[in-house]
Amino acid sequence: MKKIVIIGNSAAGISASESIRAVDKESKLTIVSDEPFMAYHRHKVLDLLEGKIKERDLYFRSQDFYKNNGVELLLEREVVELNLNKKKVIFKDRDFVEFDQLVIATGSKVKLPTLKGIQKEGVIALNGLREVKFIIENLPIAHTVVIVGCGTTAANIARIIAAKKIEVKLFGVLSEPIEGVEAVFDNPVSEILGDSEVKAVRLASNKVIGASMVIFPEPKLPSIDFVRDTDIKMNHSILVDSQMRTSIPFVFAVGDCAESSEQPKSYGWESAAKDGSMLGGILCQT
Ligand SMILES: Cc1cc2nc3c(=O)[nH]c(=O)nc-3n(C[C@H](O)[C@H](O)[C@H](O)COP(=O)(O)OP(=O)(O)OC[C@H]3O[C@@H](n4cnc5c(N)ncnc54)[C@H](O)[C@@H]3O)c2cc1C
Repeated sequence: MKKIVIIGNSAAGISASESIRAVDKESKLTIVSDEPFMAYHRHKVLDLLEGKIKERDLYFRSQDFYKNNGVELLLEREVVELNLNKKKVIFKDRDFVEFDQLVIATGSKVKLPTLKGIQKEGVIALNGLREVKFIIENLPIAHTVVIVGCGTTAANIARIIAAKKIEVKLFGVLSEPIEGVEAVFDNPVSEILGDSEVKAVRLASNKVIGASMVIFPEPKLPSIDFVRDTDIKMNHSILVDSQMRTSIPFVFAVGDCAESSEQPKSYGWESAAKDGSMLGGILCQT
């Protein structure tokens, strides 16, 4: 029986699995994710932080989806290596899963800067639901939240947390002022202070300010570290042709972890889902 493995349980990975099942009910289909959750709307996690929706509203596929479509779901399995000769996906604990065709749909993740103290509890690389749940649980005991970033997500988090009457210091540039948010653009964070947990940050000027958590919503880089030692060609992300084929004929890449070598590519939730939805027909012709 043909074995298809999809790494990624989100917009691109789920739509890929659906498009494969639409034309192929026979192959063994496995989805792998390093998160502990059923598929959820990653792009709406700040609505949960804001209290506009409940956690259950985020999930767009339930246990039944995987069961009814004969999809094996492997959660909390971080992929650290690919063996393309033996066609194996290798997990952090060195366990592995074998494939005949592989779909990489691993999106992107925040790359934390190499600051002293960056490993402390309370430093948050904001990738999705796990981190938003941590913020929600810890906000009631927070006095000051530090956010590092200039983008829309940084501004949105700052606005949401400031509205909860918690002091917010944003290290970056805001396009317009936000009530309750102090923006600092000329004195970056240089060190995270505390024992095992964040207590304060030191700035380039040497000034120290108290902080209960430090949130990094950016910069985001494709989550493709496990691809680097393979023959799969990459630029900023994995290079694919118009049929989402990588330089290895039995490996495909979709969503935010891929870029086209032939045409400009769009990013974001809808584009990732669209990429995946085209994959079924392509894979089954191969
Ligand atoms: C806070 C926030 C707000 C956003 N707002 C918007 C918005 O308003 N509009 C918009 O279009 N987009 C928004 N986005 C971006 C959007 O969520 C992404 O473009 C979209 O989720 C990409 O889908 P994807 O399937 O390619 O990857 P992702 O959704 O990133 O999913 C990647 C999957 O791969 C898994 N994975 C990654 N690495 C590994 C590994 N090594 N081993 C095992 N599994 C792995 C993850 O667990 C996950 O299941 C936002 C993102 C965030 C975080």
